[in-house]
Amino acid sequence: MKRSWLFSTILALGAVASAASAGEATLILTNGKVWTENPVQPEAQAVALDGTTILAVGDDASIKKLAGAGTQTIDLKGKRVLPGFNDAHVHFLDGGGSLIGVPLGDANSQADFKERVAKFAKTLPKGAWLRNGNWDHQRWTPAVLPNHQLIDEVSGDHPALLWRLDGHMALANALALKLAGVDKNTKDVPGGEIERDKDGNPTGILKDAATDLVERVMPPLTPVEQDLAMEAAMKEAASHGVTSVQNMADTSEDRNQANIFREFEKMERTGKLTVRVYEALSIRDWKTLTDTGVVAPFGGPHLRLGNLKAFADGAIGSATAWMMAPFSDNPTNSGLASPDLLDSEHFYQSMQGADKAGLQITIHAIGDRANKTILDLYERLLKEDGPADRRARIEHVQHLDPADYPRFAKLGVIASMQPYHAIDDGRWAERPLGPVRIKSSYAWKSLLDAGATLAFGSDWPVAPLDPVMGIYAAATRRTLDGKTPNGWVPEQKITVAQAVHAYTVGSAFAEHQETVKGSIAPGKLADLVVLSDDIFAIPPAAIEKTKVEMTIFDGKVIYQRK
Ligand SMILES: [Zn+2]
Repeated sequence: MKRSWLFSTILALGAVASAASAGEATLILTNGKVWTENPVQPEAQAVALDGTTILAVGDDASIKKLAGAGTQTIDLKGKRVLPGFNDAHVHFLDGGGSLIGVPLGDANSQADFKERVAKFAKTLPKGAWLRNGNWDHQRWTPAVLPNHQLIDEVSGDHPALLWRLDGHMALANALALKLAGVDKNTKDVPGGEIERDKDGNPTGILKDAATDLVERVMPPLTPVEQDLAMEAAMKEAASHGVTSVQNMADTSEDRNQANIFREFEKMERTGKLTVRVYEALSIRDWKTLTDTGVVAPFGGPHLRLGNLKAFADGAIGSATAWMMAPFSDNPTNSGLASPDLLDSEHFYQSMQGADKAGLQITIHAIGDRANKTILDLYERLLKEDGPADRRARIEHVQHLDPADYPRFAKLGVIASMQPYHAIDDGRWAERPLGPVRIKSSYAWKSLLDAGATLAFGSDWPVAPLDPVMGIYAAATRRTLDGKTPNGWVPEQKITVAQAVHAYTVGSAFAEHQETVKGSIAPGKLADLVVLSDDIFAIPPAAIEKTKVEMTIFDGKVIYQRK
């Protein structure tokens, strides 16, 4: 089964045509401020594209000479241009799935809420779930939570699990509660609450861990829903200037990955793909890939394979990050190693097997002990198998022992980090970490100072698919609650230029693609983003308001702000 999808994938990728052909410019961008990320020519005024590649970069006069009769010209009116953003860590289809639900984000009353559910339910195939929602009861008066009775009669045969915008509670309808077996007799789960009425019956509101009770009976997206999710995800990416994504297997047990990769292939084959994808499959499939002869990065300019994802631990919010010392708010708990690491010798053997075959390895590590353990394993790999262009990665790298900063550069391990997590988690992370460990958390500056390569991403849908917000987070470290105007652990702030580099060249390097993308230079892929403001000139705190004006992918304008 696994083998056959892989073979069909390889045949499909082999069919990708090479696009380059010489000639006059197809599209010219003039009168801009071009930040090239090319050290030979860091700034420019204009860019000429030839189909899917960049033809020339220079001043208006020289670039205009490349125009012919069929050339389209865009006047950038002095706006800032950057290389298209490359998000080094996403869960793309999950993200898309989070966008295709009942639009409840601006429901302004319970009646409005009900009407929207009724309308949306009519568009769904029989039995399909009502998902997502993004509602906020604070928008209506009085601000009381909705209950299942509100939507039961209008949701028909559609079970519903509709999330509040903060992701900490959801409304299930009676049908969903029934399918999940949640009733008066169901006990609360640790870390969660089933809200009840005065008679003890569930109201439909499930908080935190209690939402799992219903989530675990939700089926995966149907093929039709999956297409919709994919299209929504690509639209979202384009609106944020994201022209490349590195898609991660969700868990080590991710049985949905074949489905997701088929969806990417389908979009690629039908010419609908508007984002370049580098896919990381679960490391548990390393044998299948090595047996097939796949070497990273295998594929064409749109869709590639060769990365393998594994997990060293959990997360800080759920106290499952694997730490060297106990959490400050729980002296008996130091977190957990992931199931992948329980038999670390077996795990190392799969790393080594994959590495020898030329595959790339990418390992999730949040806690300081998890990071140290993975660095140790990479060090062993280097010692036993010698130097190679392996681009070994650690994902998240959130909490480090300062003694490990220099090991990233020394071992050639890429720190793939998500700056938005710092301004989100920074609101509460001192509680579990304490005042000392927060100093080496999300330690971008210390890592850069120690010579590490940073690749930035979002972890969408855990955080917004929005590199501009990521750059803002990296350069300000202002937490989302507004309580740290000078930045949370401000000594770890980095410059806007460093953050942009990590979102372009850094993430291209992390997928073996820095020779074809990540900078605006002749011969590179024609992926560009135009911003509403010059983020290098405005105060970093103002970057939050900066918008993407235009996104160019493969030489074509795929997004323009209205
Ligand atoms: Zn992730």
